[in-house]
Amino acid sequence: MRASRRTFLRFLGGAAIGAATGPVASAASGRRKPAGVLVDMHTHLFGIGDGGTGCVLSCKQRAHWNFQFSLKLIGLAENGHMDEDYVQWMVRQLRASSVDRAVLQAWDCRYDSAGRQDLAHTTSLYVPNEYLFRIVRRYPDLFIPCASINPARRDALDEIDSCAAAGARLVKVHPPTMALDPADPRFLPFYRRCADRGLIVMVHTGTEHSADIIGQEVADPARLRPALEAGCLVIAAHAGTRAFFDREDFYPHFREMIRRYPRLYCDTAVLASMFRFRVLPQMLRDDGVMERAVHGSDIPFPANAMVFWHRLRPADLISLVTEANLFERDWKLKRALGVPDPVFARGAALLEGASG
Ligand SMILES: [Zn+2]
Repeated sequence: MRASRRTFLRFLGGAAIGAATGPVASAASGRRKPAGVLVDMHTHLFGIGDGGTGCVLSCKQRAHWNFQFSLKLIGLAENGHMDEDYVQWMVRQLRASSVDRAVLQAWDCRYDSAGRQDLAHTTSLYVPNEYLFRIVRRYPDLFIPCASINPARRDALDEIDSCAAAGARLVKVHPPTMALDPADPRFLPFYRRCADRGLIVMVHTGTEHSADIIGQEVADPARLRPALEAGCLVIAAHAGTRAFFDREDFYPHFREMIRRYPRLYCDTAVLASMFRFRVLPQMLRDDGVMERAVHGSDIPFPANAMVFWHRLRPADLISLVTEANLFERDWKLKRALGVPDPVFARGAALLEGASG
């Protein structure tokens, strides 16, 4: 890689190059890890389908800037066993970090009007639940399975049952890429079944830029009412927030919703990345928001300490910019920015409560 390109990637990812083998740097702020079990509630399993994983990456997603950027950032190449290389990268990173466990997500595809799998119109990616469980069975001490189920699939209720039986603790729905409206009344049985099985429902909210989508409006947290009224514990991933250049802003709706629904939470996934640098400081100022937040990174998307340079002590900034471990960098950066300790322990507490 030429020097200029490397410098550019370093700026974007903040020293993530070499993250596969890099050591864990000393703690930002010189403080130890928060008390309790530290669970990263939001990480992604990913693959292109080599090695029989069943993953599918659409042509559109392959052409997206984010794909090549992510490969470079974590040192992956399309070599016939990239899916396994990605898993090994995650395992090495997680083991070398002070994060105890990570929630690992599958990613369901689109479905046609009859509820049949529609890979031809799936413009993002497909990571099957079956592959997720294969990986989690290999590393049960590290990963907590988050199945992904598009509520529009005709076997959605059966899939909830089989994923719950296989050990899923959460179900992820991504409305903008899966082409669905989470407020569609047809999905009430889906939400009721998730509640019955004690599965936390995690729904992507807020603007999306790393995948091809049907529109931003389906990522409005206000559309989570049916899931909440069906009795689900819901995590609005990203709290409905936006990148600094977006016009839409659904975060005010998240704030309204938490006043009305005590079982609504958010995560801090991707909130330490460069396009969302305004978000976390705002959330920290707003009453009641951190009391509903759980820690999540959105790995493989990297946290970037450089964009918070003016909010960090110089020693913390240097420590975080040179931190090669993405799990470590993400939670330490958020903590250095002022995210309170209970946020880091809350994920484990919710998982414990949801299992009852
Ligand atoms: Zn994510």
